[in-house]
Amino acid sequence: MSFSFDIKHSESGSLARVGTINTPHGPIQTPAFIPVGTKATVKSVLPEAMKDLGSQALLSNAYHLYLQPGSDVLDEAGGLAKFMNWPGPTFTDSGGFQVLSLGVGFKKVLAMDAQTFRRDDVIAGNKDRLAHVDDEGVTFKSHLDGSMHRFTPEVSMQVQHQIGADIMFAFDECTTLHNTRPYQELAMDRTYAWAIRCLDEHKRLTQERIGKPYQALFGVIQGAQYEDLRKKAATDLGTLESNGQSFDGFGIGGALDKGQLGTIVSWVNEILPEEKPRHLLGIGAPEDLFVGVENGCDTFDCVLASRIARTSAVYTMEGRFNLSNSRFKRDFTPIDSQCDCYTCTHYTRAYMHHVFRGKEIISATLATIHNERFIVRLVDQMRQALLDGNFADMKADFLGRYTHRSGQSRD
Ligand SMILES: [Zn+2]
Repeated sequence: MSFSFDIKHSESGSLARVGTINTPHGPIQTPAFIPVGTKATVKSVLPEAMKDLGSQALLSNAYHLYLQPGSDVLDEAGGLAKFMNWPGPTFTDSGGFQVLSLGVGFKKVLAMDAQTFRRDDVIAGNKDRLAHVDDEGVTFKSHLDGSMHRFTPEVSMQVQHQIGADIMFAFDECTTLHNTRPYQELAMDRTYAWAIRCLDEHKRLTQERIGKPYQALFGVIQGAQYEDLRKKAATDLGTLESNGQSFDGFGIGGALDKGQLGTIVSWVNEILPEEKPRHLLGIGAPEDLFVGVENGCDTFDCVLASRIARTSAVYTMEGRFNLSNSRFKRDFTPIDSQCDCYTCTHYTRAYMHHVFRGKEIISATLATIHNERFIVRLVDQMRQALLDGNFADMKADFLGRYTHRSGQSRD
């Protein structure tokens, strides 16, 4: 079996839809949240537990796996899913974001606020950069041992084919809100040229690697906060065909100003071919997921749920809070009384408070299970609400109670 996307229901009056992405490793019912296992593991949680909490697929990162253990090791192991004992579909992020993060020196959590940063000078000076971009690709220094490497569109495709995920992303130049408009234009032209090279190399590798499960390739739409650039990218990549090969789906990436998230996503999704799936890269805060779903995104990934869990922060229907806070010392209720996860059905806030205060390893495991379940289930509930015709009510009910605001995050 190869790759397909079936739309079951399209919401009238909005871009939202419900569908199924079929991959060689199984189906994904959309809209869906895809938890992140950057280095072929969701930190502190067994794959079995991820399956039990409702995760339909996992997303890993090509850059990290290329550096360690090496993408050839995953190829030899039979691909990413088999290597990490994950019984389902997988995604890999192309490495563009990570490599470029080294370049501009921006933090892992992108500031999703265009008002705070306007100037290019927040970007690291040339000599301090760990990566340098040119028209052919990116040269970068490993964050692990300082060794030098080079990613080109061809290398990214070779690495991602070796890793063997069901859904891969084209190698793009990811910019930040801090870059100037002329630079955004340059980066977009580059991303387009690289998209063609990715399609060509992807086709060559698909033909060469006979007998391997089909891997789908998604193009990545850049263009920052600019309407004309976003629309041009969606038009150009949406219709792009090289040697008979076109993208199987699309990722919406790059700097996304939180206040403009819905607007930017709708510019793009109104243009992209309706019959292909769309993934919103690095977005996973509850309030942002509603915006993504109602503006036509089918899948999402974000490291936030697991990253904040390790710092004792948990999502609940009443908002986000920290379990290490002393008010939970004698609170013998679950983290969220409405949550059906393993943690909430077996442990109390008082126990969670105790293991976080004692820096016990199990704290990360239990809190991550809860947070991932919370986000996976929230998007599942959005899917059901779309089918039941009460998405607007469900959204109003959730946001009426949930108040915390947080940013975009990729690993
Ligand atoms: Zn829970």
